[in-house]
Amino acid sequence: MENNVYTDVKPFLGISPDVETRKRRIVLLGATGSIGRSTLQVIRMHSSRLELVGIAADQSARELDDIADEFKVSHSVLFSREGIEGLIRLATLPEADIVLVATTGTIALRVTLAALSAGKDVALANKETMVVGGHLVTAAAKAFGRRVFPVDSEHNAIFQCLEGNTDHGSVRRLLLTASGGPFRNTPAEQLEYVTVEDALRHPNWSMGRKITVDCATMANKGLEMMEARWLFNVEPEKIDVVIHPQSVVHSMVEFIDNSILAQMSTPSMTFAIQHILMYPERIEGVHDSLDFSKLFTLEFQPPDMKKFPCLQLAYDSLYAGGLYPVAYNAANEAAVDAFLNKGLPFTAIPEIISHVLDCNLNYRLPDNIDDLMDAEAEAGSEAEKCLRSYIRL
Ligand code: MG
Repeated sequence: MENNVYTDVKPFLGISPDVETRKRRIVLLGATGSIGRSTLQVIRMHSSRLELVGIAADQSARELDDIADEFKVSHSVLFSREGIEGLIRLATLPEADIVLVATTGTIALRVTLAALSAGKDVALANKETMVVGGHLVTAAAKAFGRRVFPVDSEHNAIFQCLEGNTDHGSVRRLLLTASGGPFRNTPAEQLEYVTVEDALRHPNWSMGRKITVDCATMANKGLEMMEARWLFNVEPEKIDVVIHPQSVVHSMVEFIDNSILAQMSTPSMTFAIQHILMYPERIEGVHDSLDFSKLFTLEFQPPDMKKFPCLQLAYDSLYAGGLYPVAYNAANEAAVDAFLNKGLPFTAIPEIISHVLDCNLNYRLPDNIDDLMDAEAEAGSEAEKCLRSYIRL
């Protein structure tokens, strides 16, 4: 593993020497979603150290105004009204130290690139950014000497496990843990009949609808493997998935001496968010630690790739490289939308993805964002075509 911008242990590049004595200034994109709300909890608790200077949300103007009032934020953007220009204005705000990107979809990729090129560090909670444009983000972070910090709980755990291990050749593999979702114990033959409500019932985490369905199909873990590949600059064969139903071990790193480091906490996103916003400092957390005075059990088991073909397809896409992960993501997005809104059966989601991956799209990875977005749109329209014939049946 080559040294890279994420796992080195250099001091936080966003800090100039005087910053330690003043508050760290944060722009929060996606302030009203589940990551946004957890971020506000962290900032509320540590208001003497953290300051919100900009917020954005897609909808919910009223909630955005309430947040602006409570945190005395001077820059607020409703991007359903202002579009990507509004988001980019916030992501490049001169007074910001770090931009937390928690908006959904690939719009976040453009915003992340804008923040890095304006000299901001990025705290990344959006998966698609790395899945679709990991090569562009990595190049931009290097070019502008900035860092991309992982807020996704699994990647944040890996980041924590890698801290202090400066020899990257010493890492054998990254072990992403997965709860297994609501259908971990559902017999494979019953998956055909599960409803949207069943899929939205996640055992441990409360999140948005799209990501909750992704957890149920295990596409979420597939996307996280792709994300890890770029965040930590590792080859696909060094990334594995382990089912861990309790969601207490957030991920692990295995070293070449067979030692394994794990990061644990109760399942709340506030841990990862605070770790990044305060990095490298540790201060009191929002939620309690694990209670070892009570009996509890941690289980681990291998994933069932046959029952969850979305995970196998993600492995295949990751190994194939090029535009395959982009096509995987676009097809999954279209299929999940059809499952949520158009009555597509749950088990058809991997079938749609598989169909799109088998199409003769141009799978060469473009090195500029416009061509990349075109390629993504092409995969998306292929998925739509496939969906139309599927839903007519
Ligand atoms: Mg995650």
